[in-house]
Amino acid sequence: MARRVVVLGIESTAHTFGCGIVDSSGNILANVNNTYIPAKGGIHPRESAQHHSDVAPRVIRTALSEAKLSMDQVDAIAVSLGPGLGPCLRVGATICRALAVAYDKPLIPVNHAVAHIEIAKLTTGFKDPLIVFVSGGNTIIAAYSDGRYRVFGETLDIALGNLLDAFAREAHLPHPGGPRVEELAKKGERLLKLPYIVKGQDVSYSGLLTAAVKLLSEGHRIEDLCYSLQEYAFSMLAEVAERALAYTEKKELVLTGGVAANSELQRKLMMVAEEHNAKFGVVPKALSGDNGAMIAWTGVLAYVHGVTINVEKSYVKPRWRLDEVDIPWI
Ligand code: AMP
Ligand code: MG
Repeated sequence: MARRVVVLGIESTAHTFGCGIVDSSGNILANVNNTYIPAKGGIHPRESAQHHSDVAPRVIRTALSEAKLSMDQVDAIAVSLGPGLGPCLRVGATICRALAVAYDKPLIPVNHAVAHIEIAKLTTGFKDPLIVFVSGGNTIIAAYSDGRYRVFGETLDIALGNLLDAFAREAHLPHPGGPRVEELAKKGERLLKLPYIVKGQDVSYSGLLTAAVKLLSEGHRIEDLCYSLQEYAFSMLAEVAERALAYTEKKELVLTGGVAANSELQRKLMMVAEEHNAKFGVVPKALSGDNGAMIAWTGVLAYVHGVTINVEKSYVKPRWRLDEVDIPWI
């Protein structure tokens, strides 16, 4: 049997600074995350980056002590190089480069979207799923084919989490808006008419946001608005997910990313899976939002397949697409 490998991974692409430590059997030895909450408005990249540098030393120390490990017992450092917000990415990358140089450890580049997928596969045990990845910054339907995760649908403008958060802000609900919208939606009684925009395999959410905000200003019940917003946004996603499932003929469907915590979205996608005799799985709530463990685990997969990067070449990649990443471990 191959030697046990331990990887420390750092997440810092947007609002969360996280440090995870995972071994090659998939044991999560530590997963410590600290999330920046804006005083008002959306995420300000520079403020979030400042938050990350403030909390980083404590987060990393706590993770090492939770795992009962010293840096000498870590085999490699995994860094989430993108996609994400430049200033936030640079904090994580600078810390990882410093750790790699100071402790003489290999540095492993990790794509944040790949990490959301791999942690979902690890925790559900699914091997070859159709993936619905929905978070604050991403809305992607993907599946593995011929060396890479291929995109079978995505948003043409804003992400699903961003839609819910931006609407919630307009309604003066506290950040993050997704969970608040979900709660209020449960008390919705009337489906209000909103635009349903699906183009080919892609969805567009910005028109839906504008229309929902307009109805809000007209004084409709907030519960009905939240319910209607979810119905439209989730149905659009379920439609493209269903076509992707029919086309790829995958026998598993997995939901991952921060919005995966939403029970109504889970219900709709479970129905899609059942219709096509596919198994349905959801990433556990503790690992659905951005976290260090998913970076560390993807780092393990990459490292044991020889993927490392020179510190000198470890630039951040704010627009690093999922389908640009070679996946040698499948
Ligand atoms: P991430 O970017 O992966 O950390 O995910 C954060 C996003 O998940 C934010 O947009 C949240 O509003 C959203 N989110 C978290 N919980 C829920 C929920 N129960 N329903 C809908 N969205 C949620
Ligand atoms: Mg994310």
